[in-house]
Amino acid sequence: MPDIAQNAARPTILVVEDEAPLMTLVRYNLEKQGFRVEEAADGQEALLRVAESKPDLVLLDWMLPSLSGIEVCRQLRRKPATRDLPIIMLTARTEDQDQVRALDTGADDYVTKPFAMEGLLARIRALLRRSGTVPSKGTLTFHDIAMDQDAHRVTRNGRSLHLGPTEYRLLEFFMTHPGRVFSREQLLDAVWGRDIHVEPRTVDVHIRRLRKAVNGPGEPDVIRTVRSAGYALDLEQGAAA
Ligand code: CA
Repeated sequence: MPDIAQNAARPTILVVEDEAPLMTLVRYNLEKQGFRVEEAADGQEALLRVAESKPDLVLLDWMLPSLSGIEVCRQLRRKPATRDLPIIMLTARTEDQDQVRALDTGADDYVTKPFAMEGLLARIRALLRRSGTVPSKGTLTFHDIAMDQDAHRVTRNGRSLHLGPTEYRLLEFFMTHPGRVFSREQLLDAVWGRDIHVEPRTVDVHIRRLRKAVNGPGEPDVIRTVRSAGYALDLEQGAAA
């Protein structure tokens, strides 16, 4: 799959958070981005989870029952096996002093609650790249479209495009194979994955959304519809679509 999960093993993130609604929200968004998610609702459970199977990154809430996030972080850093485990602290505290304390304890980064999901995802990706879990991918371009695969940012003519996760993966797949025509089934395999059963017509829905997001007023359509064959990222005959 041409996203962050393209490497055989999907990065696993252990989320340590006692607020169930926030856990649900974070899990939903991480899974949507192709991460595997493990959960722990308190500090003790977090340490057990890490000992059982080491995740690629820990998202660690500061305020936890039984054992605080700071204490969990300190204990993880003391053990050779988890000395370098990437850790992002979630803190409700905005005082600079507390943030310094989080980093002093050994957290690699921190995010202050309430946070925007996109910002959190960007921090996670950046840290996974720094730790070598996710290779840096660089920027794809097609005509006036640029896709920064590390920041997950897409622009056309310098203007930011807002793509849903499926549209992003579709466009990323097209941009790595410009000009080639793909059937709906091929797109399903490449973008949704073989083991997911989705109606081929679903592809049409996402192609429509992608067109709407990518083609601004007066801009040529970059997606070509090939009758009874499928779709291609193609400018030359895009107008005929
Ligand atoms: Ca908490």
